Amino acid sequence: MGKLKAVVVVTMISTVLLSILWRATLHLEDNENFVRCLLDHSHPSHPISSAIYTPKSSSFSSVLESYIRNLRFNESSTPKPFLILTALHESHIQAAVTCGKSHGVQMKIRSGGHDYEGLSYVSTLPFFLLDMFNLRSIDVDIETETAWVQTGATLGEVFYRIAEKSKTHGFPAGVCPTVGVGGHISGAGYGNMMRKYGVSADNVLDALIIDANGRLLDRQSMGEDLFWAIRGGGGASFAVVLAYKIKLVRVPETVTVFQVDRTLEEDATDIVDQWQHVAYNLPQELFIRLMLDVVVKSSGEKTLRASFVSLFLGDSESLLSIMKERFPKLGLSKSDCIETSWVKSVLFWSNIPLETDIQVLLDRTPQTLDYLKRKSDYVREPIPKAGLESLWKKMMELETGI
Ligand SMILES: Cc1cc2nc3c(=O)[nH]c(=O)nc-3n(C[C@H](O)[C@H](O)[C@H](O)COP(=O)(O)OP(=O)(O)OC[C@H]3O[C@@H](n4cnc5c(N)ncnc54)[C@H](O)[C@@H]3O)c2cc1C
Repeated sequence: MGKLKAVVVVTMISTVLLSILWRATLHLEDNENFVRCLLDHSHPSHPISSAIYTPKSSSFSSVLESYIRNLRFNESSTPKPFLILTALHESHIQAAVTCGKSHGVQMKIRSGGHDYEGLSYVSTLPFFLLDMFNLRSIDVDIETETAWVQTGATLGEVFYRIAEKSKTHGFPAGVCPTVGVGGHISGAGYGNMMRKYGVSADNVLDALIIDANGRLLDRQSMGEDLFWAIRGGGGASFAVVLAYKIKLVRVPETVTVFQVDRTLEEDATDIVDQWQHVAYNLPQELFIRLMLDVVVKSSGEKTLRASFVSLFLGDSESLLSIMKERFPKLGLSKSDCIETSWVKSVLFWSNIPLETDIQVLLDRTPQTLDYLKRKSDYVREPIPKAGLESLWKKMMELETGI
């Protein structure tokens, strides 16, 4: 009886092993076929081979990890692509779309890799990664106040290239310079100029995409419905966006920024209450963000801190007079205000010292990497003071920030 059991167990183990081996061989064959398909669809003047990374390539992991911006998705258990294509030319994207379709595998598109849920480089289905970071040219034309920007560029690179050509132009977008243009604009893109100029997607004039049939289309040939969808609907659901033509906006040569922190002992509750009632209605040139966190006082007790961070498209004199009249509870003083250029205000908002050379915006690696979980919601009615107080209580219990 014992022998029989042993034979059954050995047979089961070998069946499982065989099936694993068979699957591995099948995958290997599939991968080789897929690579062959890419090579077959490569244009002779733009060879694709140097853009292909398989798990056998020594730099496969470093290429994959170089744009993972959330440590939650950089675990050994995180599903990995069977291939990475770091496209160097639009024909490589066309090959990727064609081969992905004919092989029935999922294609993930990654630009800056800042997706909160790792959607650009993780999947539970067999998938390959189309990485856009090599396609990042930025062509600024100040005369027409426009720029063609490839989606592999970061926001920091866009801001820098605009500033290289003009001190009085900018682009309304998010505040983190390493975010990618591809995900940001196709998902809308909000930032500290949105009160005056709307979100990034509101400032897009044209786009180049590769559709599901591998066709290269511009605004006219894709049609207005698709053009609408790739400006807020999330690009990957509709096409691979190769480039956006953006409209630059005018900014004054001098802007003013400030950050003012107030704890509960400095009337944070009343100030937050007033902020809720005035912030949405201030002049459109003024944006004030509120951030909340818990800090420990010198006595060792916890307190809540409200930080008000602002960009004003104008000088400090005008800002002070607006604040005195409309938001007096904050008690903004001249010494809180920093006058600077618009491009330097980007550094301020990224907590980079203002004396730093703006070349830092070309740095594609974030200053820190975290385990991130973020969720957004919109408050449509001011939260009453009692609600704020219970929020503070909960935050201090959990010792967290929002
Ligand atoms: C630290 C941090 C700060 C942020 N700050 C802001 C902010 O101030 N304002 C704001 O609005 N948002 C902000 N975001 C959110 C950010 O804008 C979005 O997560 C955005 O989608 C990231 O774009 P990406 O190209 O870097 O990301 P990716 O992870 O590369 O892509 C995000 C999504 O877009 C798709 N996609 C990427 N490129 C293309 C393409 N070329 N064609 C089609 N689909 C594509 C991906 O497949 C994925 O679904 C922030 C995110 C982080 C992590």
